[in-house]
Amino acid sequence: MTSSTFSSLPLSPALLENLERLEYRSMTPIQAQSLPLILQGKDVIAQGKTGSGKTAAFGLGILHTLKQAWFGTQALVLCPTRELAEQVATELRRLARAADNIKILTLCGGAPIRPQIESLQHGAHIIVATPGRLLDHIERASVDLSGLKTLVLDEADRMVDMGFYDDLVTIVKACPIRRQTLLFSATYPDNIRKASARFLNRPVEVRLESVH
Ligand code: ADP
Ligand code: MG
Repeated sequence: MTSSTFSSLPLSPALLENLERLEYRSMTPIQAQSLPLILQGKDVIAQGKTGSGKTAAFGLGILHTLKQAWFGTQALVLCPTRELAEQVATELRRLARAADNIKILTLCGGAPIRPQIESLQHGAHIIVATPGRLLDHIERASVDLSGLKTLVLDEADRMVDMGFYDDLVTIVKACPIRRQTLLFSATYPDNIRKASARFLNRPVEVRLESVH
């Protein structure tokens, strides 16, 4: 049996307090299934429909691993669109509130690149980005992913549908080989299976929906 209280997990007292303040009283099913594995450092593929609480599942994993005293980029979350990246950044900021001074930067297309480059020079613990713009920063060497601990592919099915697969391959090559990779998806078609095999290391699968 999987316990559904956050306090059954090895999370810091500060994070647990913050979850209480957010009134997250129990884990959603996808959180209950994926969080224990994520906190153990495993690569995880988690499939669950929209609204099932996937952001907090990887967000708590990132915050659990994060070393606040080091200003290098330790986590990268890739999202298909600017709107989704903003939503993820907002939820991460809510989850991180107990630990102030965690810097979360969004890097998306449609915004001028210069201010993003300047922000990167000041350091960002967590980057939430769309693949195209992140690739642009990698090519300009304005982003340093060498200290990355966690890579999250959020809404991976949509990223692949939108034609970002080749960008993802290039981005993953710029990440350290030793890292935790988490893949979240609403569906689990063949191309996601293929992407998982390429980007993840012996992943554990958590699936709450039947495949159509
Ligand atoms: P998904 O990415 O699976 O579509 P989200 O991560 O956006 O879902 O979460 C949907 C909503 O549920 C958000 O408003 C979030 O704040 C809320 N939520 C997530 N986890 C919990 C929880 N354990 N208890 C209560 N609300 C939660
Ligand atoms: Mg989501």
